[in-house]
Amino acid sequence: MKKITLFVLLLVFNTSYLLAQKVLEYTVNLNDRADDLFKVELKVKGLTKENKIYQFASTAPGTYQVMDMGRFVRKFEALDAKGKQITAKQISTNQWEIANPEKVATIRYHIAETFDTPVTENKIYEMCGSSLEKDHALINGQTVFGYPQGMQSAPLKIKFLYPQEWIYGTALEMKDGFFLANNYDHIVDSPILFGSLSKASTKIRSTQVELYTYSKTAKITSEKLLASMTNMLVAADAFLNGLPVPRYTFLFFFEDRNAGAWEHSYSSEYIIKEQDWSEDFGKKMTDIAAHEFFHIVTPLNIHSEIIEKFNFVTPTPSEHLWLYEGTTEWASHKMQICYSIKTLDEYFKDLRRKVIVDERFYDKTYSLSKISLTSYTPEGQKQYGNIYNRGALVAGLLDIRLLELSQGKRGLRDVINEFAKEYGPSKSFPEKEWFDIFVKRTYPEIADFFNRYVKNAEPLPLKEYYDKIGIIFDEKEKTFSLNPQATTEQIRLRERWLRNN
Ligand SMILES: [Zn+2]
Repeated sequence: MKKITLFVLLLVFNTSYLLAQKVLEYTVNLNDRADDLFKVELKVKGLTKENKIYQFASTAPGTYQVMDMGRFVRKFEALDAKGKQITAKQISTNQWEIANPEKVATIRYHIAETFDTPVTENKIYEMCGSSLEKDHALINGQTVFGYPQGMQSAPLKIKFLYPQEWIYGTALEMKDGFFLANNYDHIVDSPILFGSLSKASTKIRSTQVELYTYSKTAKITSEKLLASMTNMLVAADAFLNGLPVPRYTFLFFFEDRNAGAWEHSYSSEYIIKEQDWSEDFGKKMTDIAAHEFFHIVTPLNIHSEIIEKFNFVTPTPSEHLWLYEGTTEWASHKMQICYSIKTLDEYFKDLRRKVIVDERFYDKTYSLSKISLTSYTPEGQKQYGNIYNRGALVAGLLDIRLLELSQGKRGLRDVINEFAKEYGPSKSFPEKEWFDIFVKRTYPEIADFFNRYVKNAEPLPLKEYYDKIGIIFDEKEKTFSLNPQATTEQIRLRERWLRNN
């Protein structure tokens, strides 16, 4: 889930930034990459007793895992204007308390990269982690930066010292040699990749799309990735009636690990094992990229208050992963058949895979709500991956049910686009009332749907629902196929479904 930044704020950023009294000015020295440690220095003035705790992140939006970044901190110190040490002691995993905050001019610490630092539990997903090597640096905001408590909303300006031959990719704006972030949430939402990267860019209607790729032995380039992704980007634009961001940045990282991808408001990053380029690999990357890219709809434009005011101190779950992850995963595949990037057969195979994974690898009695609410526990982490399987299947069923109830006029895509317009990046929905709001906006029958398949884990009515649109689900083989004897009514609804109404 993610914290959102207003476009409007971005546009007026320079003025508000000058007016702001307290700015957190960071320097990170990437020229010194010894011991797998980021060397970080913060210049700050005017701290008060309220800011005496320096906080590292316990988790980050959209990761649904405990990160406890304090575990990676080494050698934390606070200094006054003359360079004299001020007592600072660690009081909990992620917190350091400074004795005389009023006197602090500099805070310095080293923080270990997560890729190569062993931990005994809660291993951080690589796409949410950090790496520092000879030919690259990967930085996710929460893996390098913290903030004095009470200053989560203070602007940050960050200077990176880095080798001349490196280039960087990020969604952040740069001014006078500083990367600018509106606040702590913004830096966490804006990963930065440095190193020997390839770059490619394109324009999709009015949205500037940029790709930066680190490939360990240069097998994969941004140009190849962009070529295979372009149709998907054009389809996404059509599916959403225009992309809701002015600029979007893809950061690709191909090395020795297959970890996955992490979405942000204006960017996403991918940690995938490097391999020889093939068309098939390009398709796989496009699937993953479509998913991450779709997160600009939800949670960016539709999210609960828990995402809006993100709590970095104590992980706080939201119940609506069925929406943020399930609907996103569904949309990323569905739009590919609506715009003929994938064949219906390929789509049926995706569905089949999800049905099988849901049945064989996860606890079928574990509801989507429960996956959401327990995601920060070890028990919940075991079931978390099913949000991409059952979560997407449930979104697909919801789409069919909505089309049925509206006589083919309004599917899930239409409802989602309506909500995105009504809410948007800066207006959150009330966490507890969201199911009711959704039902009120659609049909009373949807309350029963949520109750059975989101809040509870009743067996999914795949056969019954897909039959409504003339598609046969074979319960034994778990296959989907067109019904050659479909009625006119079924075919009519299927056409709507295929064109995504
Ligand atoms: Zn996702």
